[in-house]
Amino acid sequence: MAYRFIDNYREKGARKQLVDILKQKGIEDEDVLKAIGKVQRHYFFDETFWNQAYRDIAFPIGEGQTISQPYTVAYQTQLLHIKKGDKVLEIGTGSGYQACILLELGANVYTIERQEKLYERTTQVLPYMGYKPQFFLGDGSKGIPEHAPYDKIIVTAGAPLVPDTLLKQLNIGGIMVIPVGDEQSQKMVTILKIGENDYEKHVLDTFRFVPLVGDKAW
Ligand code: SAM
Repeated sequence: MAYRFIDNYREKGARKQLVDILKQKGIEDEDVLKAIGKVQRHYFFDETFWNQAYRDIAFPIGEGQTISQPYTVAYQTQLLHIKKGDKVLEIGTGSGYQACILLELGANVYTIERQEKLYERTTQVLPYMGYKPQFFLGDGSKGIPEHAPYDKIIVTAGAPLVPDTLLKQLNIGGIMVIPVGDEQSQKMVTILKIGENDYEKHVLDTFRFVPLVGDKAW
């Protein structure tokens, strides 16, 4: 793969158009739109595919995984209501694009990926782009208990259920956003933790993610 880090007028223009498309599709949070307008999504693509980088589609990133569709990233991020300084756990680093968006919003990001090659790549690319989350390699279905609790948890792979271990790692007042369903389709679920064992749950739109694979995922 030939990766290059140049932000040409063509890419800048395509990024603006992507923001307009997301607005038209119903993304309203101005800060989220600003972050989408800023993060160079083409840096996650081989140069041969730069013409695909600002289309509103998911795209293969190797290891059988995908960089999520920009609409999906914006949709999940909007639901998190990120405030500057929020401690956010992301499960499924993948390309690292979602982590960059969270960092643009001022979050402290802890991101975990189970595939070593993807982990290695993001630990090189993101700092090069100026983004510095805390990177972890391992099974994110267990969360990262040593750094809990988190203000927000975002799961970017489809889970068959909401792992209990993750709920325990959420701060009271915290929000988790997780796609829940089978391998074909999932519903986006938001969970607000209102007490130690008290949660408010909302089931929203349908999406299709790659599966969450792990000990606590089933
Ligand atoms: N957030 C990513 C991005 O911005 O590109 C997209 C993630 S991709 C749709 C889902 C990722 O979740 C894949 O990279 C996959 O390897 C990872 N994954 C699946 N199960 C996992 C687990 N138990 N722990 C950590 N990562 C996991």
